Amino acid sequence: MPMVSTSPLPASLSTAPTRLTDSHGRVIHDLRVSITDRCNYKCVYCRTGEVGAQYPELSIEEYLRLIKLFVGLGITKVRLTGGEPLLRRGLVDLVKELARLRGWDGEPLDLALTTNGHLLDGLAEPLKAAGLNRVTVSMDAVDAPTFERITRVPGSFQKMLEGIRAARAAALTPLKINCVLLRGFNDDQIEGFAHFAREENVVVRFIEFMPLEEGRLWTPEIVVPLKEIVERINRVLPLVPMPAREASETARRYTFEDGVGEIGIIAPVSEAFCGACSRVRLTSDGKIRTCLFSQVEHDLYGRLRAGESDTELRQYIAATVQGKEARHHIGEPGFLKPSRSMVHIGG
Ligand code: SAM
Repeated sequence: MPMVSTSPLPASLSTAPTRLTDSHGRVIHDLRVSITDRCNYKCVYCRTGEVGAQYPELSIEEYLRLIKLFVGLGITKVRLTGGEPLLRRGLVDLVKELARLRGWDGEPLDLALTTNGHLLDGLAEPLKAAGLNRVTVSMDAVDAPTFERITRVPGSFQKMLEGIRAARAAALTPLKINCVLLRGFNDDQIEGFAHFAREENVVVRFIEFMPLEEGRLWTPEIVVPLKEIVERINRVLPLVPMPAREASETARRYTFEDGVGEIGIIAPVSEAFCGACSRVRLTSDGKIRTCLFSQVEHDLYGRLRAGESDTELRQYIAATVQGKEARHHIGEPGFLKPSRSMVHIGG
């Protein structure tokens, strides 16, 4: 869908800007936006396989307007997600408009996208040309039968692999691969992923499974913790820890003895990093979520539809982010699963 504006768009404010912070002293500079609730995979650990889209989508212009409000409050990094964001019509135009925005520092935004890679072969080039910086591809197995048992889509392994290679060719780098490990499903893939990282020149990041699935699968035992992943890779290819680049970095990073390849482990369950969280999320229907595990959502889009001004909407965002939860309570007595699952929040 063509956009109307033609000049650079400073996300300027009509009142004195306030940087987004929360009541725990954290600065929030990272926005994740789900631009569709639909997904073309039915990963067994994420979806029951029965439900379709549950939450509405906004127009591309509406996402743009909402994102601009956040950028005006100091957001410097925007990650588009879903559902599956490559299913969304107008994605390339949205990226084009986002690439023209400038953050508080006058710099372009850091623009990233999380995808299952299925449609990336045809979209990597146009997305790069539109101004996307990086993609993260979700990939939960290095062998085709296991991969397709997880996604429940025949032929998906080859499509995803072509997508990864197209993204690398389009210089959407560093190219990150996210793998969610579940004991008994795909934990036999760990060592294979270490080799894959080196052979394909990608950063493989293992993510601990969180209780955010549509069904009821999560137990503490099904989570493969950071320590176990490191021990197993170390046995075949010794790992060397890498220093953290910033305090809010979610992954513990490792390379190998020869410096070729990188592995990251994101351990929200066994080694939670909430204290350094810099994120806020916007769902496909325009609700703010201040934590993956929030019990409450904040209807930003409802206020936009009711005609509130940009100044009022920014004040609402700032007040909402102030109330961001201190941390999640996975595994603790009384833990409550949020009403939305990962596919409907936007991972
Ligand atoms: N469709 C896109 C994709 O596949 O990357 C974006 C949305 S998907 C929900 C985002 C990420 O969340 C994927 O990497 C997926 O593996 C991960 N994910 C889904 N459910 C999860 C869970 N319960 N715990 C941890 N990660 C999960």
